[in-house]
Amino acid sequence: MVTTLEEPTAEKVVEKAMRKVAIYGKGGIGKSTTTQNTVAALAEMGKKVMVVGCDPKADSTRLLLGGLAQRSVLDTLREEGEDVELEDIRSGGFCNSLCVESGGPEPGVGCAGRGIITSINMLEQLGAYDAENELDYVFYDVLGDVVCGGFAMPIREGKAEEIYIVCSGEMMAMYAANNICKGILKFAETGVVRLGGLICNSRNCDREAEMIEEFAKRLGTQMIHFVPRDNDVQRAEINRKTVIDWNPDCGQASEYRTLAENIDKNTMRVIPSPLEIEELEQLLMEYGLFS
Ligand code: ADP
Ligand code: MG
Repeated sequence: MVTTLEEPTAEKVVEKAMRKVAIYGKGGIGKSTTTQNTVAALAEMGKKVMVVGCDPKADSTRLLLGGLAQRSVLDTLREEGEDVELEDIRSGGFCNSLCVESGGPEPGVGCAGRGIITSINMLEQLGAYDAENELDYVFYDVLGDVVCGGFAMPIREGKAEEIYIVCSGEMMAMYAANNICKGILKFAETGVVRLGGLICNSRNCDREAEMIEEFAKRLGTQMIHFVPRDNDVQRAEINRKTVIDWNPDCGQASEYRTLAENIDKNTMRVIPSPLEIEELEQLLMEYGLFS
C-alpha cells in the first residue's frame, strides 16, 4: 500500500473530533440510566457512540441492548485467554450504539478498578477508538463517588476529557459530587480532564433545581440539565429499554433529548473549585431541608 503524508494528519483530525465523556456520581444516583438515555438520544440524532461500562455490576448497557446480558471484557479474557476479537467484547445496541462492559474481578480477588484499566487497554489494542470507527463520542459510566485507584483511571490517564456528574439535592449526592470535583481538580492540574457540568437527576427535594444551579455556580460550572423524576423510567426499565426506545413521544424522552443536545452543544469545560464542607452544608441549610 502506498502511504501518503496526508494520512496521519487526516486521522488526527477525526480522532480529535471524538469526545471522551465520563459520567460520575454517587452509587444509585442514576448514572447508568442517564448515560444510556443520553446515548440513545445522541444515537437518534445520528451520532456514533460507544458506551464503556466501568462498574463491576456490568449493568451500564442492558437498556441499550434490550436486556441482553453482555459478556464483560474481564469474563471474556478469563474464558478465552488473551486472544480475543473486538466482536467478542463489543455489541451493537439501540440505533447503532456500541456497547462494552468492563466487568469486575472474581469477588474478593483483586481490585475492581483494574477491570477498567484492562478493558480500555484491550479496546485500544483492538482498535475500537481508531478513526475508521468514526466515533463521535465514547461514554464511560463509572462506578461510585470515590475517584481513587482504578476508578480514577479514565480521568487520570486522559481517557476521559469531559466529566459530567450526576447528582440530586440530597446531601450525600452533593457531598459525592463535591468529592469527585476534588478528584478532577487533582488530575486537571497535570492533565486534560475538565468538568462539563452537573446533571441534576431529581429526587424531588425542595428547591432542588435552584440549589443545584447555585452549587454548580460555586463549583465554577453549570447545571447542564434538570432531569425530572418520572416513573416512565421504571416502565421503560422493566421493558429492558431506554425511555427513548420504549416511548419516544413521552415527556421524559424529551428531557433526555434536551440533556443530549445540551451536552452536544456544550463548550464549557472547567477546572472545578470544590467547596469546603462548611460551605456545602450552608448551601443545604439555605435552600433545602431547613429553610
Ligand atoms: P447508578 O448507575 O448511578 O448506580 P442507576 O442508573 O442504576 O444508578 O439508577 C438507579 C435506579 O434509579 C434505576 O433503577 C432507575 O430506575 C432509577 N432512576 C434513575 N433515574 C431516574 C429518574 N429520572 N426517574 C425515575 N427513576 C430513576
Ligand atoms: Mg450504574
